[in-house]
Amino acid sequence: MPNSESITMEPPSESETVVNLLPVGTWIRLELPGNAVVCFTYIDDEAGFSAQGWKVEGDYLDQSSRIIIRFSGKGFSWRRLESDEIQAYGLKVPPSWVEEFYGPQPAANSLWGIWREHPKLKGRFLPDYPDDLQVLVHDGGPRISRNPAEVVWVSVRGMKGEVFQGRVLNHPSNLKNIRYGDKIQFVVADGAEFPIMVTEKYLRERKAWVIHPCNKCGFSELFDAPSDLIRVVFPKRPAGTITTMFTAFCPFCGGVQVVELRNNPAYCEGEAIPVPLTTKRPWWRFWG
Ligand SMILES: [Zn+2]
Repeated sequence: MPNSESITMEPPSESETVVNLLPVGTWIRLELPGNAVVCFTYIDDEAGFSAQGWKVEGDYLDQSSRIIIRFSGKGFSWRRLESDEIQAYGLKVPPSWVEEFYGPQPAANSLWGIWREHPKLKGRFLPDYPDDLQVLVHDGGPRISRNPAEVVWVSVRGMKGEVFQGRVLNHPSNLKNIRYGDKIQFVVADGAEFPIMVTEKYLRERKAWVIHPCNKCGFSELFDAPSDLIRVVFPKRPAGTITTMFTAFCPFCGGVQVVELRNNPAYCEGEAIPVPLTTKRPWWRFWG
């Protein structure tokens, strides 16, 4: 697995829509047809949200055979175990097998599936696979890579604000940076039909820049980190030069996106004003 960072999830919201979402990293009692099961919820990288436990037999758990549960979006009845029940059954929180077999887990008690109701994602999920949606993945925009972006299925695993995390469920056919099983991050951008994969580097750098939407289609993000684009746009840039503005080709329509340093003195809120700064060097070039 190329990336192994832990999953981040937002704390539960009070909204009614999440009342029925299951918590991760928690002992629960599930009422299955025919019998009750006490199980611990966790994330399996391959299989997704899961739980393992045992049938309830009177006051005891039948620990002779372990049950593994995979959850679909269907409703079922469950409740958290009370701490005295956990104690009475002799259970550990968390059980040692969770990290040992399934690696880093989301924060205990995070609600699984809270992203399903996120306004940016709602309506994009498959009815039978409520965490799975399509995301545009890529090796970079047209200045960086010749490989065309591809739409793949991604199973969402977490979110932080408006940045979502998930696992790629397909083998992209022509990309070299993205493979089946990779953990990726993505955002929903204006002007794009599908959510767009973003890299950690892009997210880190993006804060310092204003990305003006594409002049043709309105696309509001970049496929590449600004520093990578600057290296390509200004290959002969003298060391120490500060680039305050550059342009990118829109990966969708070939239009132009002006990208401007947030504290650029020539920048006025809401519009790009291509006024050269007082410098002897050519400091920006228009492309397209
Ligand atoms: Zn465009």
